[in-house]
This record gives sequence, C-alpha cells and structure tokens, in this order.
Amino acid sequence: MDDLVRSMLSMRAATRKLIWVSLALAFGGALVTDLTLHLEARWRWPLIVLYALVLLASLRRRLRQSDAVETSALLDAELGMLLAVGVMGAIHAVDGGLDGSTWPLVYVLCVVASVLAAPSATAVIVGTVVTLEAAIRFVAHGESSVVPLVVHGGFAATFSILAMAVLRVEVARIRSHSRTRVQAEIERMHDAARSYRLLSATRRTAPQAASAPLSDDDPSRLVRSSVEEIHQAVFFALQLLRRSMGLHTAMLLWLTDTGTHLRISEMTSETDELSEGPFQVGDGVFGAVVAEREFVHLTGLKASYRLPYYPGACPVRVVAAIPVMEQEHVRGILVVDRTEDEPFGEGEQELLVAATRYVLRAIQNERVFVQLERAKVEQGKLYRAARSLGAAMSERDVVEASVRSAREIAAFDFAAITIFDETKRTHEIRAVSGEGADALVGVRYRHNAGLVSMVVQNRYPLPYKGEFDSAHQVIFTARAHPPQLPSMLVLPLLVGDRALGTLVLGAKRRGAFGDSVRPTLEVLASHVAVSLSNARMVKRLEELATSDGLTGLYNKRALLDMVQSKIAAAVRFSRKLSVMTIDLDHFKNVNDTYGHDIGDQVLKGLGAILRKTKRATDVVARFGGEEFVVLCEETDTEGATLMAERVREELQKTTFHTPKGPFNVTCSIGISTFPEAGRDWETLFKASDEALYISKRSGRNKVTAWSPRRLRAA
Ligand code: GH3
Ligand code: MG
Ligand code: MG
Repeated sequence: MDDLVRSMLSMRAATRKLIWVSLALAFGGALVTDLTLHLEARWRWPLIVLYALVLLASLRRRLRQSDAVETSALLDAELGMLLAVGVMGAIHAVDGGLDGSTWPLVYVLCVVASVLAAPSATAVIVGTVVTLEAAIRFVAHGESSVVPLVVHGGFAATFSILAMAVLRVEVARIRSHSRTRVQAEIERMHDAARSYRLLSATRRTAPQAASAPLSDDDPSRLVRSSVEEIHQAVFFALQLLRRSMGLHTAMLLWLTDTGTHLRISEMTSETDELSEGPFQVGDGVFGAVVAEREFVHLTGLKASYRLPYYPGACPVRVVAAIPVMEQEHVRGILVVDRTEDEPFGEGEQELLVAATRYVLRAIQNERVFVQLERAKVEQGKLYRAARSLGAAMSERDVVEASVRSAREIAAFDFAAITIFDETKRTHEIRAVSGEGADALVGVRYRHNAGLVSMVVQNRYPLPYKGEFDSAHQVIFTARAHPPQLPSMLVLPLLVGDRALGTLVLGAKRRGAFGDSVRPTLEVLASHVAVSLSNARMVKRLEELATSDGLTGLYNKRALLDMVQSKIAAAVRFSRKLSVMTIDLDHFKNVNDTYGHDIGDQVLKGLGAILRKTKRATDVVARFGGEEFVVLCEETDTEGATLMAERVREELQKTTFHTPKGPFNVTCSIGISTFPEAGRDWETLFKASDEALYISKRSGRNKVTAWSPRRLRAA
C-alpha cells in the first residue's frame, strides 16, 4: 500500500515536471499533422493562439526561476523545444518548405540556446530540431533522401558546439585574467607591507601565496588594512602640503625591502604625466638624498633638466627632496616641486621635515598595531591551548591536547612527543601523529648525539630556524627516523630548568617553523611540559592513595572501593566470591625478638607470596598491621581453600635470615564465600574473620572456611 502511494506520488511529480515537455511535443505533433493533412483554418488558428499562450507561460516560468541549475536546465529545455516548434512552423509558412532562405533562423536559435542554456538543454533543443525536421520531411513531405536532414543537423550541431566552446574559452580567459590580477594585487600589497616593515622580510613564494586563500583570520587581512591606513594618512599629508604650498607634485617614495629601488607610495599632482616607477635608488636627485641623507633643494630648473618621475620635459622650476629617516636609515623620500621659480622658504622647509616625521609616525603606529593584533591572536591561541592542557589529567590527554594546540599555531604533517628517563638515560617516543606512527611509538633508545638528545641536554630548540638537513642530522636514532621532511623542529619540554622530553614537529613545507611561529611554539612547549609533569604527579598521587607503601599491595581504602562492584557483579551473574583473611602468627614475638625492621621484611615477604599465588582477577590488600585480605572472584570455598593452603605452606617454608640467626613464621587464614556466608561485604568479612579466629584458636598455621556450623576446620 505504502509502495503504491509512493510510486503514484513520484509519478505525479514526474508528470508535473514533464508536462511542459509533453506540451512542446504535442505542438510538434500538431505541426507535423497540419503539414500532412492540411487542416482547415478553424482548427489551425485556435492551435496557434494556444501555442502563443503556452510559450508566454513557459517564458515567464523561466524568467522567474534563475537560481537552481538543475531546474533551470529543464526550464531551458522546455522553452527551447517550444521555440523550435514555433520557429520551424513559421519557416515552413514563409518558405513553403524547409530549404528556403529563412532556415538559418534555426541556427540562430541553436546558437542562442548554447550561449544562454545549459549544455544538456542545448542538446535537447538541437535534438528536437533534428527530430522535427525528420518528421516533416519524411512524414509530411514524403521525402526519401536523408542528405538535406544530415546537412541541416550537422550545421545545427556544429554552430551550437562552436558557440559553446567560444563561450567557455572566453569565460576561462576572463577568470584567469582576474585571478592573475588579484594575485598581483596581493603581491603588491605584501611588497608594500614588507617595505613598511609590517611583515617580516621572509618572502612568501608565489605558488605558496596562490595556494593559501585569504581566510578571515589570515594575517594578510590585517596587513592589508594597515597598508591602506598608511596610504590614507600619507595621501592626506601630501594633499595638505600641495594645497597649502602651491605645489605641482607632492609624492612619497619608499625604499623597496631589497633597498635597491624607490617605489611611489602615494602622490598627488597637477599632472597625469608622471612615471610610475620604481626608480633606481641612485637616480638623479634621489641618489643625492639617499647618499647625503640631507634635504636637497634645487631651484631655477630648466625644461631640459631630467627629474626621474617626469617622463618628458621638466615642467617645474623648483624641487625639494627630503629624506625620511628612521634611526639613521633612509626609508623613503618626500619629493615636492613647484612650477614657479620660487624657492622653498625656511618655514616651508620646516613644514616639509615635519611632514616626513608625520609619515614615519603613521607607519610606526601601524607597525605597532599589527604587532599588537598579532600578539592578541597568538595569545588567544595560547590561552585556548593552556585551557585544554589544563583540563588534561592523564599523560594521554596531555599528548592529545598538545598536538591539537600545536596545530592551531603552525601547520605540520608530523608530530611526536618523547620522554627522557633521567635515571636510565634513555628516551622513549611516547606518541606520534602522522606518517610512520606505528613503527615509532614505544621506541626506546639511549641518549645519543641525535637532535632530541641534544635538545634535552641543552634545553634549546633545534635545528636552527627549523631547517632540517637529513644528510647530516638525526632526530631520534639512526634506526628510528621520522619521515624525511625539509622542516623539522625539536622543542624542549621544560619544567624549571629540567627537560622532561621533547615535542617534535615536522612539515613538508620548507620554512614551516620560521620566526613567526617558533616563539609561540616554544611557549606552548612549556605549557605542555607543565601539564605533563602535573599528569605524572596526579598518577603518582593516585598510586599513593590506593597502594600500601611497604608491600606495594592495595591498601584498605582501595580494597573497600573495589569490594562493592565485585559483590554487585557476583550478585548479577550469580557467581561465587571468596574472601580470605590472613594474619601472621605471634607476630608480636617476631618484632620483639628481631626488631621492627625484620618484622617489616616478613610483611614484605608475605606480600610477595600473596602476589605470586594470586590469579589475575584476585585483589590482594594489606588491610592493616599484619593482616591481609584477598578477594577471589569466581572462586568457591574449595578453590579459595586450595589457594590459602598454598600461601600457608609457602610462608611456612620461607626462612628469614637475620643477624640473630634464621627463623620461620606461619600464618592463619580464614575464608568466607558469597553467597553462603553473606550477601554483603560486612557480613562476609565478619564471617572470614570468625573463621580466622577459629584457625588461631585451634593452634594457628591453619586454614578455616566459614560454614554454618562454623566449626569445620580445613
Ligand atoms: P596472633 O598469632 O594472635 O595474631 O599474635 P600476634 O602477636 O600476631 O598478635 P596480633 O595479631 O595482635 O599482633 C599485631 C602485631 O603486629 C602488633 C605489632 O607489633 C605488629 N605490627 C602491626 N603492624 C606492623 C608493621 O607495620 N610492622 C611491623 N614490624 N609490625 C607490625
Ligand atoms: Mg593481628
Ligand atoms: Mg597476628
């Protein structure tokens, strides 16, 4: 039933979709019928009116819908098919056949379709044209030769394909042109930013710049807005100078970061006939300013004088060029000139020097702004890193958070964390993310001359600038090496002045760990180190809280923590569970005779015997003083008794050697089993203690299992 409804619904949707196509086909059929049977005018005219209405409706539908590609292709096809029917009907009416002078109208239709409609729709329209022509020729006219049809069809297809190809090529050309222009614009902006020292001098190579899209947090957005700010400030100053001093041209030239050329940073002039630059540093008046670092003032210039920035005759009589100085270095030149031969007076000269200071301040302000913004972004990253590292309690969590945080700071393809064991002087590769992880994780090696060892020893990141030379440098050892990558950085995990290990990063991209990321990564590494040492401390505290210092067994608290879940499991799965209580016999005597230290040796000895005898699922705890408890899962009274006997015999056989001579000790054991002896911990423990008491009372060095009669001695 469901299927039926669904198929009916989809049929309805398909019908609705194809109704216009069907209408176009019906009109095509009607045209062929008319040309075959020569219908009377009273049939023909209503059909033509109906056709016109349908065509208009289809056109309206197409104009309304313009977004979805899929549906617009279908609408294009419908409209094109209807038009094809109309055009061919009209051609036939005018020429009385399909070989007259108006036939090229069909080609026009095909070309228009291929330019405006989707390729699939164009194919459908050309197909309709050919089919309709075939029907008219063979059915209505009764022709038998296929040659005219093939020729017409061939032309229609060729025109369509040609038009489509030309359009595609043109679109691709425009796209590539605009892409190069955008690229050039970005490069120019970067050059300007570098020359103002907003960006570090490391050059982004062209393919790299092209492959890195400018995202929201891209630093170049920030730099771009700073460059714009500088230009606005400079332009404002130049305009002001030009208006107030009656200048012909006022321009600021700035040294490129290579220092060989001067580029026009901003300018304002009465004329458009100015050279675009860049100019050689040594060019004419510029050379004098850069060399002397002094105000150059030329008056009484002739038209024949050559000023680098005027391509033709010199239009000005006076020119002044003022160096823009920043800490002894010439950074740029402010150039102003006048058409009247009127030298710059003292007040004007002072104004010009003040203008250079203003320009410099604008640039310096932006530099500080960019640095502050950068610092803010870096701090945000470090803050997030610190938060996620702070939340990591185990070593694994710390490692995961470290790699995640490092990824926010720099792009890399390989990351590893190594831990240094100071007592054994070995390094262990604890975690690896990236290629070769399986082969590297867990590798342990001796302290050597590799980069990791050197970094741990010197507590300083290596290699220099993160440029790795695989021919001469080794990261871990000669046999355990990471994938060969041109960029590698090994950072020490420092807590105080101690290196716990290293964070190793690698990237396929050259220069991936440059000055812009290395300091931040170093800070991250110190966060990682602190978190790692915290995680170790937490682990150590947990161990201390749950284990007994003397024997290394669980302590009473840990046992009580585990007991409830063990009993719950025994209840749920109807399993047996035995509790064994062990107490040393006449232990007070041992202490009194041989001393407390020897007593402790005995306690350790019994602990070792218990650890050796227990099964994997048993829990052994030093419950207090010289009393031990063993929880044996899935063990009935017989099983527990067997084990208890082994413990008892093993202890009895063990000889303890002391300065006062050798001696042996024995122990007494009590056993109780769930569910016979009790269904909760208190009852079970009490029962096993009672059984222990019976062992003691009946001569010690005995094992007693609790029974309802509480008497049966094992
Ligand atoms: P019993 O056969 O009846 O058990 O006699 P006992 O002397 O062993 O008596 P009890 O179990 O009451 O003795 C407890 C003694 O265990 C008292 C104390 O001197 C000793 N003891 C408890 N804890 C320690 C410890 O941590 N180290 C040492 N060396 N002795 C301990
Ligand atoms: Mg005791
Ligand atoms: Mg005792």
